[in-house]
Parts: sequence; C-alpha cells; structure tokens
Amino acid sequence: MLVTKEFEFDAAHKLINYRGKCENLHGHRWKVQVTLQAQVGENGIAFDFARLEEIVREKVIEKLDHTYLNDIFPQPSTENIALWIWKNLKQLPLYEIKVWESPTSSVTYRGEEEKREEGKR
Ligand SMILES: [Zn+2]
Repeated sequence: MLVTKEFEFDAAHKLINYRGKCENLHGHRWKVQVTLQAQVGENGIAFDFARLEEIVREKVIEKLDHTYLNDIFPQPSTENIALWIWKNLKQLPLYEIKVWESPTSSVTYRGEEEKREEGKR
C-alpha cells in the first residue's frame, strides 16, 4: 500500500552558477509530498498518518520553513532539496519524495542514485 502525505514550507534561495531568474534572491512556497510503501497491518493501517506527519514536521519542515536555503545547501535546487529530504527520512519505508517549487514545476525522487551506489559495491 502506498501512503501519501503533503506538506508546505516557505523559504528563500538563489541558485549558484546559474543564468536566469533564479540566480537572484527570491522565495517560493515549496510543496513536499512524502509517499511510503508499507503492508496493511491487522489493524487495517499501513502507516499512521499522525506519526508520518510528526516525523516529517520534525525532520524536514521545521528545519526548512522560513530559512534561507543557501545556508543549508551549497546549491539549493529543488532536486537537491528532494535528495536531502530522502536522506533525512531514511527511518521511514520511503517509496517516493516529490517536491514542487511552483504549481507546475516538480521533481520526483525514488532513491535511484542510492540503489545504483549499492549496486557498485
Ligand atoms: Zn527558485
């Protein structure tokens, strides 16, 4: 079963080594969608939404909301934010992380690089 919850945070950033509008300091309301994959238990629940909310708020939203993302990321692209969220939520049975920087622009990460790295060993 896939279990999904959505969150939002507001933050400022400017992209490094980039030519275009996003090289100037500006803000976004980012939307984050966390999807877990878990078996439905005997209680009929795969993963408690309240627990999911608590963990994502503590590990991700509280750390990013109303920050200047360049203080946290060398290159605060939406792609790097998605990778960071995946790493910070490693305790969860992650299936997919989706991050929108605008209503029409999003990235989706399913741990691909990580799997490729494991394959190299
Ligand atoms: Zn931007």
